[in-house]
Amino acid sequence: MRTILLLAATALALSGADAPKSVRLYVLDCGRLAIDDPARLGFKKEQLKTVDLSMGCYLIAHPKGTLFWDTGAVPDSYLKPGMAKASLTYGTITKSITSQLAAVGYAPKDINFLAISHYHWDHIGNANLFAGATWLTPKIERDLMLAGKSDSRYPENYSLLKNSKFTVTDNKTGEYDVFGDGTVILKATPGHTEGHTSLFVKLKNSQPVVLSGDLYHYPEEVTTGIVPPIDVNKDQTTKSRKDLDAYIKKQKAVLWIQHDLLQFEKLKKAPQFYE
Ligand SMILES: [Zn+2]
Repeated sequence: MRTILLLAATALALSGADAPKSVRLYVLDCGRLAIDDPARLGFKKEQLKTVDLSMGCYLIAHPKGTLFWDTGAVPDSYLKPGMAKASLTYGTITKSITSQLAAVGYAPKDINFLAISHYHWDHIGNANLFAGATWLTPKIERDLMLAGKSDSRYPENYSLLKNSKFTVTDNKTGEYDVFGDGTVILKATPGHTEGHTSLFVKLKNSQPVVLSGDLYHYPEEVTTGIVPPIDVNKDQTTKSRKDLDAYIKKQKAVLWIQHDLLQFEKLKKAPQFYE
């Protein structure tokens, strides 16, 4: 009897790392986008310090559960054992999300919540890994994705989400408090897509972070105000940027532009974390 109890306790402990005492933010490397011509983002090469883009994925481990934010372009399954890298069109990965999560002590099935900044292909690549999580999503993004009306390129990479539990994050305040304590907040920042979302993470010992999805791609968008021609509503993007900027100032937060390669390269990567 005693042995059985001990075995049960061991099994529990192995289903995901122990919950941390305070919020942890893990940065995962979801590869790189090789950009031949940045014109579709509104720039000429000579206006930019770096043309290629990083792809960041993020695990937020909260005392009450886990949230995975954005899932890259290239599915883990493309990276077969022994391969140094794998590509999908102009996206390339050298590491899987699964291996990076394992280094922290989690499997994709352990993750409680999935949120995606928006439906573009370079953010939904591994959404299927998290089909067992509760999908936190604006209604419009889910509706467009499941109706096949979003510009996602590879809908097969999120097809399992159609059966996932989900919670609609829309409300009048434009903010959705994931764990109910103000530390992890999804913020509506529409414009790039209809329901584009950013993420605020408050940490105990470091500056709060705002992960801005694709509200910006290059830091030069912050300084010039240039909005990519591909945005579904450019005026809305400009307004979302203004609103988010005011929020960042109020929260004394730091802006992390997920595609900003130079900034991304400087961040601590999982299994290291910010707390
Ligand atoms: Zn993107």
